[in-house]
Amino acid sequence: MANSGQKVVLITGCSSGIGLRIAVTLAKDEKKRYHVIATMRDLKKKDKLVEAAGDAYGKTLMLLPLDVCSDESVKQCISNVKDRHIDILINNAGVGLLGPVESISIEEMKRVFETNFFGVVRMIKEVMPDMKKRRSGHIVVMSSVMGLQGVVFNDVYTASKFAMEGFCESMAVQLMKFNIRLSMIEPGPVHTEFETKMMEDVAKMEYPGVDADTVRYFKDVYLPSSIDIFEAMGQTPEDIAKCTKKVIE
Ligand code: NDP
Repeated sequence: MANSGQKVVLITGCSSGIGLRIAVTLAKDEKKRYHVIATMRDLKKKDKLVEAAGDAYGKTLMLLPLDVCSDESVKQCISNVKDRHIDILINNAGVGLLGPVESISIEEMKRVFETNFFGVVRMIKEVMPDMKKRRSGHIVVMSSVMGLQGVVFNDVYTASKFAMEGFCESMAVQLMKFNIRLSMIEPGPVHTEFETKMMEDVAKMEYPGVDADTVRYFKDVYLPSSIDIFEAMGQTPEDIAKCTKKVIE
């Protein structure tokens, strides 16, 4: 349970990557300012987080299950938080999707919007009433540079982040009246499992009906150059965690 003076921070998608690192960074804060509720959809994946948290686990860091695509799971998770009191919500969970639009089914596209857009909307709707009542709170959203600019072959991912940016920009104005802050973080490439998962999906991708030029451009030009960009410019999850900590301080 949080000590008085500690801020309760709930983070989505803490099984790996940026979410895991934010959870550990805040839980290990030298002044113990945060009580971290690290959530993940499958608690069987908790080992990496628990190991990285070390002594903080069970003290300044606790775990709860949460699937941002499920109304029921979101409601259940928030109702498990004492008095539903969350000072800072960090919407980090997200999925990527790469490839020519002709190769991607509408179902796969919906999954991306379900997670990256509706996942954030569900969480905000659930925490907003308590934050409004207390007239305080901070909602942080992990967007992307692709929430600001379209990138070839990332059409659907980009659209999901643009949608979220639009939603949050509009919400920020309403929330300001209640002294609730809304911040967006827009990282460039970050070395996490995100890229690996997308590349695994691409390896299984089929291209029926896609013109030969597009397939060649995607496989022979786009993919190698995007890997080069990741190598050259990729930040670490620690970089993003430090930035997130600055944003909430
Ligand atoms: P990871 O794939 O390492 O982490 C994504 C996290 O989201 C995982 O914990 C995953 O859980 C979780 N997640 C996915 N779907 C759900 C769901 N339905 N409910 C709850 N959790 C879910 O990637 P990153 O750490 O890189 O990504 C974190 C965020 O950063 C994302 O929003 C992404 O869009 C954004 N971002 C990433 C960049 C990058 O280059 N890596 C660049 C810019 C932004 P599970 O293990 O269960 O799949």
